[in-house]
Amino acid sequence: MTERFLDAESTIRLTVFLGVLAAMMLWELAAPRRRQEVPRLLRWSNNLALVVLDTAILRLAFPVLAVGVAMAAEAGGWGLFNALAPPVWVAVVLSVLLLDLAIYLQHVMFHAVPALWRLHRMHHADLEFDTTTGLRFHPVEILLSMVIKLMVVAALGAPPVAVVIFEVLLNATSLFNHANIDLPRRVDRVLRLVMVTPDMHRVHHSVIPVETNSNFGFNLPWWDRLLGTYRAQPAKGHRGMEIGLRQFRDRRDLWLDRMLVQPLRGPASGGALDGGWGTGGGGGRRDRDRRHTAASGRTLMPCTRRRFLMIAAAAAALPGAARGQAQAHWRGRALGAEASVTLAGVDAIAARPVGGGREGACPARTGLQPCRSAKRAEPAQRARLSRRVARRSGRGDGALGPAPPRHRRRL
Ligand SMILES: [Zn+2]
Repeated sequence: MTERFLDAESTIRLTVFLGVLAAMMLWELAAPRRRQEVPRLLRWSNNLALVVLDTAILRLAFPVLAVGVAMAAEAGGWGLFNALAPPVWVAVVLSVLLLDLAIYLQHVMFHAVPALWRLHRMHHADLEFDTTTGLRFHPVEILLSMVIKLMVVAALGAPPVAVVIFEVLLNATSLFNHANIDLPRRVDRVLRLVMVTPDMHRVHHSVIPVETNSNFGFNLPWWDRLLGTYRAQPAKGHRGMEIGLRQFRDRRDLWLDRMLVQPLRGPASGGALDGGWGTGGGGGRRDRDRRHTAASGRTLMPCTRRRFLMIAAAAAALPGAARGQAQAHWRGRALGAEASVTLAGVDAIAARPVGGGREGACPARTGLQPCRSAKRAEPAQRARLSRRVARRSGRGDGALGPAPPRHRRRL
């Protein structure tokens, strides 16, 4: 089942991409949420040309993509889930969730770091918001995102099938939540409890910085709610709000050549560091934090920053945890093998009537080597102890004496 799914991976990706893209385009034409001022031909042709360019650059730059890394991790036993070996469905569900969290954190980072914002702002500079906006990313951002994703996949030891599910899902939801479609309000209210809807993500494309720096999620809406970056609606309403960035209002900026050089043009203003972070209100602590932010002129709200740092620290610790798990796994194997060799030697020695010891007695009591601590010893220490055992056993019965004080202390 899994093999067949992975064999059909390319077909699944292409079918879902073209199917969702066509469906959203038709839906936008039939029931648009906002009236579009910029001609579709200009935006669609340039945005789709960028997708072709991004795909070509990605294929040329990376010999293996995320699924390839997941397969290599599975074969080599790297990463958290390959070391812990939970049931496959648990690894798949957790991998999809954690990859989504990683994408959320990456998105926040691309808003917060000026150099990264220069790349990401090209996505925001689209003067309209429709399904092709969801495909409009600078090639360098695409490459950086892939590097981050490969590291997360390797650290997690995500199953290949989880990576395909996540990527297909992300592609489809990005097309959906950027679509200029008029979802019934009640459907939107229910749907945004489990996934990011167009009305939720449109807020993120507002020219107002406090709105741009909210609703970072692509797949799941929970990270925004959990980390205080959720904003329910735009201040001017979905039809009244302005889309894009104040910095780039010229239609010429929508052309492919201008898009590619946009990161180099003008200052890196409008990002999270000089804009503002906002929540959708709701009173209480959030309002206090917002008032504090406004009064102090600080851009990151204390509670948001705290929660973000906690999650970021946990995410950053994942590779370490995975590495620790893998090391423990391999060390455990190595120790097991070495322990059996050493203890076999110890048993052989113990079986001999040595010194004042009796046959079969633990050699620790004869000053040779500790039985229990042998299991706890580090490989280098154990190798030393093994050599010592061999040396002493080679001296004959009479040569055996008490253990030296340092060795005894270690017992
Ligand atoms: Zn963004």
